[in-house]
Amino acid sequence: MFEKINEVIIGESTFKSMENAARSQKKIETGGMLFGKNDGKRIIVFVAVNPSTNCSRSITHFEIDETFAITTARYMNRLGLDYLGSWHKHLNYGGPSKGDDYQAELFLKNNLHIKNFLSVIMDFYNENEFKLISILYCPNKNQINHKIYSDSDIGMNSEKLGFSDIIIIKGILHNIESKVGKHCSLKQIEVANEYIIEIPFTYPIKNNPSEDNSERQTCNVYISFPDKLFGNNEKIYVGISSIDYTSYFRIFEFEIADIYAKHDEFIYKIKELLETSSLEKYLNYPIWKILGKENKVWQQ
Ligand SMILES: [Zn+2]
Repeated sequence: MFEKINEVIIGESTFKSMENAARSQKKIETGGMLFGKNDGKRIIVFVAVNPSTNCSRSITHFEIDETFAITTARYMNRLGLDYLGSWHKHLNYGGPSKGDDYQAELFLKNNLHIKNFLSVIMDFYNENEFKLISILYCPNKNQINHKIYSDSDIGMNSEKLGFSDIIIIKGILHNIESKVGKHCSLKQIEVANEYIIEIPFTYPIKNNPSEDNSERQTCNVYISFPDKLFGNNEKIYVGISSIDYTSYFRIFEFEIADIYAKHDEFIYKIKELLETSSLEKYLNYPIWKILGKENKVWQQ
């Protein structure tokens, strides 16, 4: 027997992220993956992952790269969120299409442990306005009611970044902690109005680290996030900073859309920065000169 699910609830900030993604792709289909909880009576969508790369788009078609989709789903599972289905944009042809039905049915056939597949279609009947259509395959196709709830009504904090974004950032943090083996913390830097993951580490103050390591100073490897994750070509910036952020040095940037598909590469680079000897190959000067007292503000 299949459960009777009556409605779909989408968190407001999550819905906004879908709408922004849909509007950012003019006259072309786009979409994303939906994650959250299914309690048997209703489905709650907490997170929409709307990739800017790792997908193909046309006027009548949108598809997410399979490897990207699998990696992302695994990642969300580790955060306790289930893969619920997907959303995509239509250009005034209603929905779902035969192709959409086929994809959903094929997914359920290939993933027998998953009982329902949610498909949300944003059908733009003109440049600005759209109609939302929600279909639940369980496994037969049913149109289902949807509601947009404020973040606080479904227990999501209303912080500057949407709950959805915070979950993604926390996921990155946990992954770094488990793979790099260092404690990290999530901070909101008021002045810069941005979220930062910081990983403290100590480095030798002497020019030649092999001489004498007795004098060590603490600094941070920081990872700073854009206001909107999964906007257009949004980037994460990574660098080193003094603990009070009065001096910092940006070392590399990373497309936020690549965070799942190129996750190992990202983690490897972070690991490198936490080793004084490999970090220094990115710098023109020893770290202590960059972050030390003589040079107050350094940046790229
Ligand atoms: Zn479609």
